[in-house]
Amino acid sequence: MTDNDPAEDVLATLRALRAADPPTHGGRVLSYVYDSGRADLDRVAAEAAELFLPVNGLDPTTFTSVGVLERDLVAFGRSVLHGGSDVVGSVTSGGTESCLLAVKSARDRARATGGGARLALVLPTSAHPAFRKAAAYLGLDLVEVPVDPGTGAVHAPDLLAALDDVAAAGGRVALAVVSAPSYPSGAVDPVEDVAVGCAARGVDLHVDACVGGLVLPWWPHDLPPWDFRVPGVTSMSADLHKYGFVPKGASLVLYRGRDRHLAQYFATSSWPGYPVVNPTALGSRSAVGMAAAWAVVRTLGEDGYADLVARTAQATDHVRSALRDVPGLRVLGDPVGPLLAVVADEEAGPDMRVDPFLLVDAVRARGFLLQAQPAFPQPDGTVVPRSAHLTLTPVTLGVAEELVAALAAGASAVRGRPTPQPDPTLVERVAAEGLPAELAPVMATLEALPREHSPALLAQLLAAVVDPDRGQPGPHALARGEEHGAHGPSAAPPGTTVR
Ligand SMILES: *Cc1c(COP(=O)(O)O)cnc(C)c1O
Repeated sequence: MTDNDPAEDVLATLRALRAADPPTHGGRVLSYVYDSGRADLDRVAAEAAELFLPVNGLDPTTFTSVGVLERDLVAFGRSVLHGGSDVVGSVTSGGTESCLLAVKSARDRARATGGGARLALVLPTSAHPAFRKAAAYLGLDLVEVPVDPGTGAVHAPDLLAALDDVAAAGGRVALAVVSAPSYPSGAVDPVEDVAVGCAARGVDLHVDACVGGLVLPWWPHDLPPWDFRVPGVTSMSADLHKYGFVPKGASLVLYRGRDRHLAQYFATSSWPGYPVVNPTALGSRSAVGMAAAWAVVRTLGEDGYADLVARTAQATDHVRSALRDVPGLRVLGDPVGPLLAVVADEEAGPDMRVDPFLLVDAVRARGFLLQAQPAFPQPDGTVVPRSAHLTLTPVTLGVAEELVAALAAGASAVRGRPTPQPDPTLVERVAAEGLPAELAPVMATLEALPREHSPALLAQLLAAVVDPDRGQPGPHALARGEEHGAHGPSAAPPGTTVR
């Protein structure tokens, strides 16, 4: 290395930037990241990714390697989700793209036979926002069905009644959606009952298993059928880059029937260039995510996944049983898999209750990042309570005692403290100064905003982060290497201003 090797300088800056991120390994961040705890998987993924960096997945007839990888991953996905030879699909860049494409396929098929009726997407309020985005991008009416605020799951008769309401109003349902499980609470919707009703009405049903698709197949506790074993399920999404433990940038969308898959494609020869066939939303298509995914799936195999899921389930059981002994809070409903929402126990007196937003701040100060989820008023007037979300992974097992201690101590520190009040002046201050270290008042303010105002505000906040004239690092991150107590702002790494 020489003193003026520009590549070394560049990489040193990148390392400094990464050092300011929260730790992606070790189980301290209980959302966003999925750590298998196996260094061999990280290595094989990195080498596979490097091999495929220059490849363009746009054309698998030119880069035949990409076609092989995709075929193998689709075969693996349909096998673990119990699809037969009539189930086919694609590898996409992530769950959002998988959901978007499932909706696009359903919309185009409905349009072809719909005689111009308005088309609707019918989903529980707990369905991932990717479906709201799909409805917005693809011009569908969105019909939200309230979930049971006590369990987080939708009741099948409610969803089926919504299908009938659309028909009674002269519209058509392009697609119904349920989740296995939904992200906010970890509840698995009643797939079988919904599927029977959808099939009777001739409505296609998507099971969003983005987060559950590679963990529920090996979950050791009983659960009702939720995948392609259920006859009325016509499409599914399953993210490789969540519990598949592959780097970000890989998901599966699968369809029952080749016609449904084909309706996902965009093809045209209406320009002076090469004939265009885009299976997914992208044109030029990185093969990096697919190659890394293929390498990890091959290395792990079904037995490898079963082993990682067993560890995840053990960690989940441990944390759930420990939470039962913490007064003032409880787990929402009875989630099946490794996702939990911790809510205030309304049966405890106000002096004993633990506010989830305050809990998130208190637990962060003790070395673990939970995710604050605002209360959600539903169309029927019921409210899904505010919560602290935990996504548990195999590495949670190694830190389970520490996590449980942090949850218990954090709860004790804030027990009986009243919920922070919304503060409208906070919005401007956050826009000007960035996020404060204590996020509870920010979350309380966001929660109280009229729902029609918050999207613009959230967009402004996030746009400011990447605005060359305004961007500043968030001060609240749990810096890498800090074992306990991420108090106060983490210093900005050197050379973060790129001009
Ligand atoms: C993560 C997730 C998605 C969206 O996936 P991204 O990969 O984040 O785009 C969709 N549905 C559920 C249930 C999810 O958990």
